[in-house]
Amino acid sequence: HGKLYVVATPIGNLADFSIRAIEILQQVDLICAEDTRHARTLLQHHGITTHCIALHQHNEQQKAESLIQQILQGTSIAIISDAGTPLISDPGMPVVALAQTAGIQVSPIPGACALIAALSASGLAVTQFSFLGFLPRTSSARISLFEEQKNNTATWVFYESCHRIDACLKDLASVLPADHDIAIAREITKLHETIIKTSIQEMLKLFAQDSNMQRGELVIMVSGSKIEKKPDSLSDQQLKTLQVLLTECS
Ligand code: SAM
Repeated sequence: HGKLYVVATPIGNLADFSIRAIEILQQVDLICAEDTRHARTLLQHHGITTHCIALHQHNEQQKAESLIQQILQGTSIAIISDAGTPLISDPGMPVVALAQTAGIQVSPIPGACALIAALSASGLAVTQFSFLGFLPRTSSARISLFEEQKNNTATWVFYESCHRIDACLKDLASVLPADHDIAIAREITKLHETIIKTSIQEMLKLFAQDSNMQRGELVIMVSGSKIEKKPDSLSDQQLKTLQVLLTECS
């Protein structure tokens, strides 16, 4: 049978497309794209003429079964999304999961991903990070998520719409100390690319001063908590003391 490819596409700059991604998209029999009009612009730019159909959050459950049947009959399919890596806050999950169950080989063709690009240039520690996807839309839900993450020692990263960035920063400021480090990567690989690392307090000022900051696409990163984790197990000394106490009591 055929294969399923999960192909990353650019997140702004059309040149951020791997040679292999272009080759695979040319070779496959069918491309499933989040938005076929958007995809055609990108595919035409690279001379790719493969047939394209729509696969988005509203039809992916329903289409998955028939796509898998096609692959089992020999068709090779590639999934792409509007930007970056499919399945990362993007459609594709039902098809990939079903393909795996059906014993179909799923191959990723790696490339741009906004959260990885943002972290790599953020200046924050990236040895460990937690990706939270898109934030909830209401302030109360955001605040409870921030409360949950407050003691996370890894850097946390999330996607947020430019329409809610101001409210989101204010919610962050209500949970974390004003001098806590955060970074924002805006319009990565595009004309107005801006990457800033500063305190929450300063970031709020920057956003208040420059309304351009509230336009375009954003990735927000929050420095991990510096609080040392309490050890889960007892130290050797504590164990000895406990043993002595237990012997004394028995
Ligand atoms: N699959 C994509 C990826 O690999 O990053 C993410 C898709 S998600 C629907 C779109 C969100 O990703 C945007 O709202 C924004 O938060 C982030 N994003 C995408 N492109 C970006 C860019 N060029 N600069 C900054 N953030 C970007």
